Formats: sequence, structure tokens, C-alpha cells
Amino acid sequence: MGLEEYRKRRKFGKTPEPEGKVSRGAGKRFVVQRHQASHLHYDFRLEMEGVLKSWAVPKGVPEAPGVRRLAVQTEDHPVDYIDFAGIIPEGEYGAGTVEIWDKGTFRLDNKSADEIEFNLQGQKLSGDYVLVHTDGKNWLLIKRKPKNR
Ligand code: MN
Repeated sequence: MGLEEYRKRRKFGKTPEPEGKVSRGAGKRFVVQRHQASHLHYDFRLEMEGVLKSWAVPKGVPEAPGVRRLAVQTEDHPVDYIDFAGIIPEGEYGAGTVEIWDKGTFRLDNKSADEIEFNLQGQKLSGDYVLVHTDGKNWLLIKRKPKNR
């Protein structure tokens, strides 16, 4: 996807968000940003392919096994966005308050066009998750039950 869509939506003189660039690093970090915009949601972002692959999760990332939540894919964000917290001014895209709700690292276990399996290690979130593409921009973010070992 790249960052064209991200940049097109924002005026960098007016929003404190980073302009950023596509990173060359093979990072494995994730962040969940609580975004009190016109509607409260949680932005879930995985560092992949030099950008942050991003989903807006209205009800938040599941913490209990077996719980599934709608996750609407949004534009790729620059890796620098992983540390962003602040106030996006009234009238700008995504106007409202962004707070870091959780961050950490993840292990990518499997990835296809319609399914991404990973394990999160954050301050609040941990365990096995899967993102499953359903239709259009809609995905389901599911916390898996622990495997029997
Ligand atoms: Mn958002």
C-alpha cells in the first residue's frame, strides 16, 4: 500500500503526526493507540514491509481467548507513528486524542493474503492472535485459545 494514502489525508503543517517514510528495517513491533476521535476506537498496527499495517478496532483488541472483534483495515502508516501520541487538531483528519494503549513486539507465525497469524508480547496484550480477512476492508481480529502442548 505504501504511504501515499496516509500523506494524502493529512496536512503536515497542521497535524502533529509524523510525515515519516517507508523504513528499510525488518521490525517486529506492534502498537495499539486509543483514538478518541468522533468515535472512540483502537488503532492496531503491526510493523511489516517497512510500514505499519493498520486496522481500526472499534471495540478494542481482544484480551480474552476466543473473543473476535471487527477490525477495519486503514491506510498504512509510517513506522515513526509507532510512538505517536498527541492531539490532532479540530478540522484535521482523525481529529481528537491519540494515546498509546499498549505496545510491544510480535512474532509472525503465518501470513497469506487473507490471514495473518502472530503472537503478541506487550504490556497488556499477549498470546496468539489471527487476523482473518472477511470482505472489503473488514477483517476479524481473534484471540486464540492457548494450544494444548
Ligand atoms: Mn484512528
